Amino acid sequence: MISKLEQEALAFVKKKEGKKPSVAKNIKLHNRTLKVGYRDISIHVVKPDFITENIGSSDYGQFLPKQNRIDIQAQQHPLDEVNTILHELLHVIVNDIGETQKGGVLADDETEEKFIYNASNYLAQIFRDNTWLLDYLQAQFKR
Ligand SMILES: [Zn+2]
Repeated sequence: MISKLEQEALAFVKKKEGKKPSVAKNIKLHNRTLKVGYRDISIHVVKPDFITENIGSSDYGQFLPKQNRIDIQAQQHPLDEVNTILHELLHVIVNDIGETQKGGVLADDETEEKFIYNASNYLAQIFRDNTWLLDYLQAQFKR
């Protein structure tokens, strides 16, 4: 849930960038398929659940490699949700390139998490602060 103050701040930033506030482009994550390497990964926006093996309340997301599934905690702030999907996407990549296996540079869980935490934070910031970049990339892919 975004507070009124946050909504005003986002609207101000969008206005400053010469764009309308982005309520119009409401693209949902739930039940999307993310194609990464050979995998078709299903994305599920879920509520934390301590009884089943769902994500816990302190987790923003999780990648379940054997199920080809990413769970994203529901009701996150949009910027946190973006960060979470980038974070879990990076988990998929480093898992599938084998760097989390024995001998890999990210074989240690803490090292993997630190790398992914920092990389996803930077990517989220770069995409947020350079909104032209995603439009540019999309346009180049359509050529
Ligand atoms: Zn992680």
